[in-house]
Amino acid sequence: MTRPLDAIFFDIDDTLFSTTVFADKARRSAVDAMIRAGLRAERHEAMRELDDVIAEFSSNYSGHFDKVLDRLGPESTEGHNRAVIVAAGVVAYHATKWRELKVYDDVYEVLKWLSHTNLVRGVISAGITIKQAEKLVRLEVLEFLTPSAIFFTDQVGFSKPNPKLYRRVLHRLKLSADRCLYVGDNPTHDIDPCNREGWATARIRRSGRHAHEEGATTPSYEIRDFLDLRRILQDEFGVR
Ligand SMILES: [Mg+2]
Repeated sequence: MTRPLDAIFFDIDDTLFSTTVFADKARRSAVDAMIRAGLRAERHEAMRELDDVIAEFSSNYSGHFDKVLDRLGPESTEGHNRAVIVAAGVVAYHATKWRELKVYDDVYEVLKWLSHTNLVRGVISAGITIKQAEKLVRLEVLEFLTPSAIFFTDQVGFSKPNPKLYRRVLHRLKLSADRCLYVGDNPTHDIDPCNREGWATARIRRSGRHAHEEGATTPSYEIRDFLDLRRILQDEFGVR
């Protein structure tokens, strides 16, 4: 006996790609570039200040590198125009972004496989709309997704873990919770609300800052990668 399934929705960060590893690489290359451009600081010291700035001002704050220079003091940029040092960091950060922002190989393979099924293949992602949309484009998975099933919290008006976010998505697409599966890495923002709304849930636990957190509820499935997900879709839901 298999469970009926009409739609599968994915989280983006630390689900489709390793946000944590990617961000770390991008920040390191930014700091290295600023030092090459004249910043007088030890690499580990500049990295620590950058990590602290991100923790204190959030990853979506736009003046990270300026704040790092403020913290390191005027002597760290003496004899240089600080705007040039900041620009060196920004350019290196974006260059790394172009190079490194890729889905895991198994994610690519399974999304491609899913695109040959009748399932709705959507995204429900929290964050700044343009940044999340840009990630989907750079990850090169848009062709495997259902265009009308891509939702960003800033646009919907509800953020995770508000259950109204998930209800709104179902309402828009005329889907029912008991025939939908959500795949995400965050136990409290992805898994708990969907469980409470009656969705099937798959928690991916591979990397990222939520890997060691526990939620209030248990996911329907735990997966290490998308090959596990494919097996579940085949065995439990009869997806072919
Ligand atoms: Mg996530």
